[in-house]
Amino acid sequence: MTSGMTLPSDQDSSGRTFGPEELEAVRECLNSGTLTSTRGNFVKQLETEFARTLGAGHAWACSSGTAAVHCAVAALSLEPGDEVITTGITDMGAITPILYQGAIPVFADVDPYSFNVTARTIRDRLSDRTRAIIVTHLFGNPCDMPEIMKLADSRGIPVIEDCAQAFLASAGDRCVGTIGRIGCFSLQQGKHITTGEGGLVVTNDDALARRMYLFINKAWGYGDARPDHYFLALNYRISELQGAVAVAQLNRLEQVVASRIRLAAALTAELSSVPGISVPAVTPGTVHTFWKYCLRVDDHVIPGGTVALGAALKDFGILSAPRYIQKPAFCCQIIREQCTFGTSRWPFTLARPEAVDYRRELFEGTWDALEHVLVLPWNEKYTDTHINYLADSIRTAVATLTERPAAARH
Ligand SMILES: *Cc1c(COP(=O)(O)O)cnc(C)c1O
Repeated sequence: MTSGMTLPSDQDSSGRTFGPEELEAVRECLNSGTLTSTRGNFVKQLETEFARTLGAGHAWACSSGTAAVHCAVAALSLEPGDEVITTGITDMGAITPILYQGAIPVFADVDPYSFNVTARTIRDRLSDRTRAIIVTHLFGNPCDMPEIMKLADSRGIPVIEDCAQAFLASAGDRCVGTIGRIGCFSLQQGKHITTGEGGLVVTNDDALARRMYLFINKAWGYGDARPDHYFLALNYRISELQGAVAVAQLNRLEQVVASRIRLAAALTAELSSVPGISVPAVTPGTVHTFWKYCLRVDDHVIPGGTVALGAALKDFGILSAPRYIQKPAFCCQIIREQCTFGTSRWPFTLARPEAVDYRRELFEGTWDALEHVLVLPWNEKYTDTHINYLADSIRTAVATLTERPAAARH
């Protein structure tokens, strides 16, 4: 059986909004004849307005979420072989910048229910070479920042927040991205708002802001009395065309987030009593902004677990992602086989053996999380009809999977 409803998708106009505002901004940009952000005003406007939206001192646009993480790591001026704690459940673009800066990604385990790193799992991986911690607010759900900041501050270790999936998520009275030293965002096609590709970094630290600005600009000191290329850096700028679209998209962000939160609450209300699945756990005092809506599937109740449920939902035309990224990042070839620069394996050659120990028993939470998570496609353009359809499909799929043959019922 294949049937049902086509859900709005973030891959095309069904689930993305590019209206007259974006079009007008792009037209104005083209008419100006200035497409570089070193001369134009759209990217500057984006940076000013994004900083204000988050309540951050500085924001810079850059070419991707990967570039944003690269700027953040580069701003810390790490020494080769320094260790950066991260998570095994994230986008590879959050990890490779660590290696490009000559540092070693050290994976902390995650909590199998929130899918996030915690103060406890980070503490387990700290060493005298730890120079930074990158926390990922996975799926839009904030990490336990009070505990993580307490730990990091007590050791004087800077925290980078990867907020690519967590625009406007908050913990206490602060937006994620402004709690640690640097926040990183992505404007890639599937994120809350988009310019196709793009990224943003934010910080309240003037010196880090300066380093990140330089890193985006080949470390050329624009405007300095005696400018030079001060250090190793790339061109990570976005164009004014992207800036124009981003300014218009940013005006939509609050509504996008409000809609995703409202829809998530509606689905949670529908699903809370379905056996074998757990709805997302939102920590009191935090705001989860639902980049995706994830279920945890209990394979003791639902035979075949998340994979079976994902397959059953496909019959309803619902394209979920059982197991999310399938395997932890440290099982990908780049890290497993240390495929870096030529055949050198650098910087892994500088690593402590414990830092590159990826044995399964060290990552029970990570494997548990991936083995049970079902990522539902999520979009701000869903209507109540879509939510009811999702809920009905999930209830029906669970009922079918848990139905025992008649003979076994006694
Ligand atoms: C999307 C994403 C990135 C990378 O962003 P790109 O714009 O695709 O380079 C990094 N981290 C997380 C958590 C992401 O979801």
